[in-house]
Amino acid sequence: MEVKVVKNILAQNEGIAEENRRRLKEKGVFAVNLMSSPGSGKTSILERTLGLIKDEFKVGVIEGDICTTADADRLKKYEIPIVQINTEPFGGDCHLEAHMLQKALDCLDLSSIELLLIENLGNLVCPAEFKLGADRRVAILSITEGEDKPLKYPLIFRVADLLLINKIDLEEYLEVDVQRIEENAGKINPELPIIRTSAKSGEGFDQWKEWLSKGIKEKIT
Ligand code: MG
Ligand code: ZN
Repeated sequence: MEVKVVKNILAQNEGIAEENRRRLKEKGVFAVNLMSSPGSGKTSILERTLGLIKDEFKVGVIEGDICTTADADRLKKYEIPIVQINTEPFGGDCHLEAHMLQKALDCLDLSSIELLLIENLGNLVCPAEFKLGADRRVAILSITEGEDKPLKYPLIFRVADLLLINKIDLEEYLEVDVQRIEENAGKINPELPIIRTSAKSGEGFDQWKEWLSKGIKEKIT
């Protein structure tokens, strides 16, 4: 019984995700769903990314959080359209679902956006289960989280189109083998491209920007 209910929820979610996908395609918006655990640096990555590309491309951001607007407030200085989704009215969900994105899309002028960055809620599990209808899913793992995470939470690494290994600037202070993280991610998803990043120093952001630009250009043409 319980399994059936869960399946129905996921099937319903996929239907709405498909509608979102169609809508984004129609408007030529390249949408990226950013997924990670709390504290991996999603918002810091967004900040540096916006600084790098907002003059080149028209960017919009959707911020998912349970109840605060703290992350969205941090991004206000970039003067781009931001929509905050708080999941508390939906029962305090720990992930975004397609129907939440659908409502957020209603609040944006999609014809004036080329890149839509969606910050999912901090969680390595269910954000990977619920498709939103974005073009790409990006997993972010910081090196402070340990080498075993890809093996412990395989789904997010399996469904991701790109992995950012963040906080690479801390490598010299930690007893962590970054190559081991990459190997473990490769065991789960051998096709997964990986970029080592530091939102603090900017390492890897040229490559990340290139990845985003390529997606945007493919979507526009
Ligand atoms: Mg954040
Ligand atoms: Zn959840």
